[in-house]
Amino acid sequence: MEDYLVRIITKDARVRGLACITTGLVEKACLRHDTYPTASAALGRALSAGALMGALLKTGQRVALKFAGNGPIRKIIVEAESTGAVRGYVAEPHVELPLKEGKLDVAGALGRTGFLTVTKDLRLKELYSGTVQFYSGEIAEDLAYYLTESEQLPSAVGLGVYMEPTGICATGGFLIQALPYSEEEVIDRLMEQIGKMGFVTDLLREGKRPEELLELLFGGIPYDTIEKRPLALRCSCSRERTEEALISLGKEELTSLANEKDRTEVVCQFCHERYLFSREELECLAKEVMH
Ligand code: ZN
Repeated sequence: MEDYLVRIITKDARVRGLACITTGLVEKACLRHDTYPTASAALGRALSAGALMGALLKTGQRVALKFAGNGPIRKIIVEAESTGAVRGYVAEPHVELPLKEGKLDVAGALGRTGFLTVTKDLRLKELYSGTVQFYSGEIAEDLAYYLTESEQLPSAVGLGVYMEPTGICATGGFLIQALPYSEEEVIDRLMEQIGKMGFVTDLLREGKRPEELLELLFGGIPYDTIEKRPLALRCSCSRERTEEALISLGKEELTSLANEKDRTEVVCQFCHERYLFSREELECLAKEVMH
C-alpha cells in the first residue's frame, strides 16, 4: 500500500490534525542505510515526524529536523519538502539495543539528553530555526514539545514503528495542533481520546489507515478533510548542489583537496549517491570562490 498523509481541520477551524502511513519509504531508507533494529525504529519515527512537519509547509518550502543526542546513534537528520518528499539518515546506523519493556529502545539509542533543532527554509531571506532540549528522546514527545514551546502551538504527536524480525511492517503517526483561540474543552476532549486510543504502533499493526487514526482521535468532533497527499523517499541532491557545497568549503580547502588526490568523491549522506570530481574540476570550482 502507498505511503500517504491526510490533513483535516475541525469545523470551527481551531484544531488541525494530520496522520500518515510511511511504511514504504521507511523500509527503503532503512535498507539503504543498513540500519539495525533500534536505529530503524528511530529513523522510522523521525521520517514520519518529517513527513508530518512537511505537510505544514507552503509550496516550495522545506524543513529539516536534527535530533542530536548523547546515545550511540548520536544524530538523526530528516528533511521534508512541501511536495511530500522526505529523506533522512542516522549518524550511526548499526545500533541495536535490548528491548525495553517489550519495545524498541529509541530513547536509549538516541539519548535522553540532547537537542532537537528545526530549521525551515520558508523562501525568505533568512532561515527560520528553533531549538529545544529533548523532552524524552522518544522523538514524538520531543517534536510535540518543540511545537508547543518554540512555535507556541500546543501539539500532540504520536509515532509508531511496528517491526518483525524480518524488518519494517508498518510505520506512521499523527500530529494534532491547537490553533490560536481553540477552546479548552475541545483540547481536553482530544487529550482524553489520545489517552484512550492506545499505542500508535499497535494501531498500525492492526492495519489502521491515516483516516482511521484521525477518526479515533477526533471521534465526535466535526471536521473537514483538507487533503490527502502521497509521500515518498526522495533525495534532492544533484551534481550542481554538490558543487555548491564544495564551493562553500572555501578556496583553501578546495585547493588542498585538489592537491591531495586525482579524483575526489563526494557521497550524499541521505541517499549514498556518489559524485566524482577530477583535480581539474576542483581547481575550476576553487576559482569560482573568488566571485
Ligand atoms: Zn542524495
